Parts: sequence; C-alpha cells; structure tokens
Amino acid sequence: MKTLFALLMLAGLLLAAVLIVIPHPPAVFSLLTAAAPSALPIPVEGGSHNAIVDSWGSLRGRGRRHKGIDIFAKRGTRVLAPVQGLVLGIGQNRLGGNFVSLLGPGLQIHYFAHLDRFGPIKKFGLVQRGDVLGYVGNTGNAKATPPHLHYGLYVYPEGAINPYPLLMAAPAD
Ligand SMILES: [Zn+2]
Repeated sequence: MKTLFALLMLAGLLLAAVLIVIPHPPAVFSLLTAAAPSALPIPVEGGSHNAIVDSWGSLRGRGRRHKGIDIFAKRGTRVLAPVQGLVLGIGQNRLGGNFVSLLGPGLQIHYFAHLDRFGPIKKFGLVQRGDVLGYVGNTGNAKATPPHLHYGLYVYPEGAINPYPLLMAAPAD
C-alpha cells in the first residue's frame, strides 16, 4: 500500500513536471540549470537604492522576524520580475495579502507580497525579467502600513536569505 502511494506520488510529480516543462521546454531547462544571480535589480519600477532599508531580521511581534526587504512606493507602482522565472504561485495569504511567487535561476524562490492587484501573469507561466508581476499595495498584514512591496528570497536548503546585498550589488540606474 505504501509503495503504491509512493508510486502514485511520484507519478503525480512527474506528470506535473512534464506539464510544466512541455509548453516551454528549453527555457525551463535553462532556468532550472542556471546559476543563482550575483545581483538583482530592484523589483519595483523606478525603485532606487537609497530608498531601500535593510530591515532583514528585525522583530515583527510574537518572536517573528522579518524575512525580507520592504520597498516603499506609491500604490499601483508596477512590480517587475527581477529575473526570468516560472510563476509558482498567485494567491492570497493572511500575512502577505496578494502574493506572487516565482522560481528563478539557481532554484531560488522570489516572493512578492502586499500587492494591490496582479499583473497579466498565469500560474506556471514563464516571465521575463522586467515583466509586470503586479502592483504595489498594502494587502495582508500591511493594511495599516503605507503601500510597499515585501520582497523575500528563499533558497534550498537554507530557507529565507537576505536579498538586500544582492539588490545593492546591481548597478544603480
Ligand atoms: Zn516586509
């Protein structure tokens, strides 16, 4: 029984992988095998380096620590994909409000939260760097805060890492 379950799980995973890869095989293959970026453009249109504060790890009540960087911008400012990636999730959760998660090079997961609304993206679709993922807002637990993008970066197996040095390493524009 256990073996059957494991086989079904494996078959499901393989099917999912095939379904994701088939519409755009070479792009997904190169994405999955690409190295992690050594710098990341600010994922908010017109975002400047001196507007970003390194609030990584600061306490956020009940012992929770801030697992990302907040980029403040006017409501409705476009949130742009900082890398080419595969859209893994478009949805809502209690803390993040409207969020998008993106699988990028180096198997990194980029997480964009508190969005006002979503861009013209679809789940398991491929986006290019600069594509609109959504628009800055203050949904989720940011509803008492000025509109901002919460940007998180997750890698396996470490978990959340601080995107701040990567954002600062990108050339200023
Ligand atoms: Zn945040």
